[in-house]
Amino acid sequence: MNQKTKQVCARCIMDSSVPNIQFDSQGNCNYCTDFLERCAHVLDDTSEVKAKKLQALVAEVKRAGRGKRYDCIVGVSGGVDSSWVLVKCVELGLRPLAVHMDNGWNSELAQNNIANLVQTLGVDLHTHVIDWPEYKALMQAFFDADVLDVELLYDNAALAVNYRAGATYGVKHILAGTNSATEGMSMPPGWNWNKFDKRNIKAIGKRFTQTRVRTFPSIGTFDFFRFRFVNGVRWVSILDLMPYNKAAVLKELQEKYGYKPYPYKHYESIFTRFYQGYLLPKKFGVDKRKLHLGTLVAAGQMDREAALRDLEGIPYVSEAQLQEDKLYFMKKMGWTQAQLDGYIARPPVAHDVYPSEVRLWDFATRTLTALRSLRSR
Ligand SMILES: [Zn+2]
Repeated sequence: MNQKTKQVCARCIMDSSVPNIQFDSQGNCNYCTDFLERCAHVLDDTSEVKAKKLQALVAEVKRAGRGKRYDCIVGVSGGVDSSWVLVKCVELGLRPLAVHMDNGWNSELAQNNIANLVQTLGVDLHTHVIDWPEYKALMQAFFDADVLDVELLYDNAALAVNYRAGATYGVKHILAGTNSATEGMSMPPGWNWNKFDKRNIKAIGKRFTQTRVRTFPSIGTFDFFRFRFVNGVRWVSILDLMPYNKAAVLKELQEKYGYKPYPYKHYESIFTRFYQGYLLPKKFGVDKRKLHLGTLVAAGQMDREAALRDLEGIPYVSEAQLQEDKLYFMKKMGWTQAQLDGYIARPPVAHDVYPSEVRLWDFATRTLTALRSLRSR
């Protein structure tokens, strides 16, 4: 789309290049309007309902964890959100096990952040180191398939590792860094893929790689329902139950836990920052900063002008860092410059061109929601 004709939302920073965007008569877009309506209760830090819910959750976690070594699992990535959950859990008197999935792309900064945090808090850390040859083969398969969500591999494996840890330790609550205040604006269609689509991972892996994938931790619809209803493991976005201001939290993490920040969301992984900062915009025309910074702007946590200025630059701290990451990526994947250029030039292919369980997932989760609303009537 022509830069000059591009309409930018008057309230957040989403623009007319984003799929399914609509503007109202005030020039506000449907993404931030829907977000502010849907998450009003979460964004209201004075809400007593929220405080009561947190109290009830803490009591429930403690009750369910009685007699067990841990009473909750906290998945940590080294990012701000999950680091803060761990801090709050300890402050609230919970006994978390920190769980980390290492896919071989962690930045040194992320490793140090996690190590500092668990040491200072005195929390046990379980790190699942993924089998690199398998993971690399699956990544290569996703590149060969030209599908957009290469991070589905990380996200699905991380979900699997967290739910498994819950089942292994008999823990009923996974307290996660997922939250509405800083990530509640809906992902535009086509900007990612369903994170429980194990079938899609398997199908793409089978089609494009000779490597036998035996140990990759994955989770699909049936696994999710088994963990949820047989093992009784629940995923809780605990940050939605407390005030959560990213800038304030970052300051406290830096001062008390020697935490080192990253320039953008999810940049704790070298692949993620190369993916979000280069591959996604170049090959797929997707700039996730619009969503991440736009959410912060809509939630009143970031100045709109500052976010717009930020968007004008490349999604990287510097051109030098981008070049460094590009070389690192090519070396680690065993690619030449020509292979990278070829990949960028090829047109994207939709995930559901390959077998997928998205319909099963949608059906199962819709049915569950319907049953719950029937029961609460
Ligand atoms: Zn907007």
